[in-house]
Amino acid sequence: MNILVINSGSSSLKFKLFKDDKVLVKGIIERIGKTVPNHEKAIEKVGSLLKKHSVDAVGHRVVHGGEDFTKSVIIDNTVIKAIKKNSKLAPLHNPANLAGIKACKKLFKCPQVAVFDTAFHQTMEKKAFLYPIPYKYYQDNKIRKYGFHGTSHEYVYNQVKEKKVITCHLGNGASICAIDNGKVIDTSMGLTPLEGLMMGTRSGDLDPGVIFQLSKKMSLNKIEKMLNNESGLLGISGISSDMRDLKHNKNERAKLAVEMFHHRVIKYIGAYAALLKGVEAIIFTGGIGENSEYNRKEIIKNLSYLKTKFYVIPTDEEKFIAQKTYLTITT
Ligand code: ADP
Repeated sequence: MNILVINSGSSSLKFKLFKDDKVLVKGIIERIGKTVPNHEKAIEKVGSLLKKHSVDAVGHRVVHGGEDFTKSVIIDNTVIKAIKKNSKLAPLHNPANLAGIKACKKLFKCPQVAVFDTAFHQTMEKKAFLYPIPYKYYQDNKIRKYGFHGTSHEYVYNQVKEKKVITCHLGNGASICAIDNGKVIDTSMGLTPLEGLMMGTRSGDLDPGVIFQLSKKMSLNKIEKMLNNESGLLGISGISSDMRDLKHNKNERAKLAVEMFHHRVIKYIGAYAALLKGVEAIIFTGGIGENSEYNRKEIIKNLSYLKTKFYVIPTDEEKFIAQKTYLTITT
């Protein structure tokens, strides 16, 4: 069976055609909204690149499933409405995901499946996912922790036999997850991907008071942009958001950025080991986690108090989306 995996973003669309676990064709359509007018035209391009192959099902990465989706689902009109409803929680991502879904529905007459970044984390309990603010904001506005990178955390978790595991997805975006017997105990990203670890350009955790202080001299829009795009490794180093440029850099602020990155990963691992009451395995994945022995060592050397195994497991979100798509349409 040939399964097409689509990751439709606002300005680019990545695709991979799988036959079982083998990739037949892959590519990226860039500059949507500029050179390529819209997602429909982008999907038509994908269609023409795949014309030698059959497409038996399409699996779509959807960023935000809110509380509506705890697993992958076949896309029908109800699902489309729910993804649209959750756009208010992911205004940059869900509309782009939906545009890809709609274009594919027109072009490929086969089952379409939505695989949600948030679904795996729906196993979290209320005590972990609620923010301690008045309850009505959860009831009325669904303000809570959702968590992201769910397909990556679940995929690497499934590759090991241990049950109490901390998965560290350390890439440009970074998040960490405590998992006990397949159930998420806690995860570092929140209502949005801004919470948690220090990232390439995102701040991760900070006192919300910082925002109030800064709002006296900056607009909220500017603060949002600063926290998402100008902070993290880039903000501290002033040099780069890319760990490769920083990890052996002699510059004081580059060194500080790398130390802060490690400090925060070590802190989360300690907290999650406590929640799990002991950890059997810690998995590193994502661009930094998979490729950088230096960063892994700097983190691991602070964790000798834990009796745990360490693994490096390359994540493969597209393959996992293809597998989930297959399982969703066959069971
Ligand atoms: P994304 O979150 O965009 O999916 P990736 O998981 O692909 O990101 O990670 C990309 C990041 O991984 C790069 O920005 C870079 O910081 C980091 N990276 C990749 N290779 C290495 C390496 N050898 N050493 C340190 N960092 C690396």
